[in-house]
Amino acid sequence: MPARHSPEAPSPDFAQWIVHLGVTGRVLVTTPSEPLEKHTHAVVSLRSGRELRFVDPRRFGRLSVARQFAAPGSEPLDVALDRFMSLFRGRKTPIKSALLNQGLLSGVGNIYADESLFRAGIRPRRRAASLTRDSLRRLYSSVQEVLKEAIALGGSSISDYVNSDGEEGFFQLQHRVYGREGEPCLTCKTPVKRIVIAGRSSHYCPRCQK
Ligand SMILES: [Zn+2]
Repeated sequence: MPARHSPEAPSPDFAQWIVHLGVTGRVLVTTPSEPLEKHTHAVVSLRSGRELRFVDPRRFGRLSVARQFAAPGSEPLDVALDRFMSLFRGRKTPIKSALLNQGLLSGVGNIYADESLFRAGIRPRRRAASLTRDSLRRLYSSVQEVLKEAIALGGSSISDYVNSDGEEGFFQLQHRVYGREGEPCLTCKTPVKRIVIAGRSSHYCPRCQK
């Protein structure tokens, strides 16, 4: 039986749900009449009358409530431009790895990193430290743009899935490069390339991204 949590006795304190999806974890938002999926470990009643359900067949995921959770990295939508630029100063790692480094920025996943780099015209393998202030400024804008679009799209499709398995594709962002290996770049028609950086697929246009 999954644990049930109801909002009847709200805690006066502020708390946050921390979700680790692990390997197969998913978070669903459904109506209570929806039958429980197999491997549903927690059901949370939402004020809207709907339910948030945590489903995880392989049980590597974790759901917890934290009184004070501080992510180690900066919040990409709140971080100031100067601070954003300073995160990459002196870093010899590829910019793609730096974007995925949760100690620098929180919550920029693989797809969002590829899409942001494409929009900023930066190759994923470029050394973070080699980027000019102009490039970093473009990257700053494109990361925010991509995340905001994803959140806006997520708002309209949240009725079924907050997340699907695999990558962070819970928001059906229109991918311009991610997952489009060999397909023509939407800007210049050059075939999109795929390389592996630190074990993660990276997609880019060899012409538009320098
Ligand atoms: Zn291109």
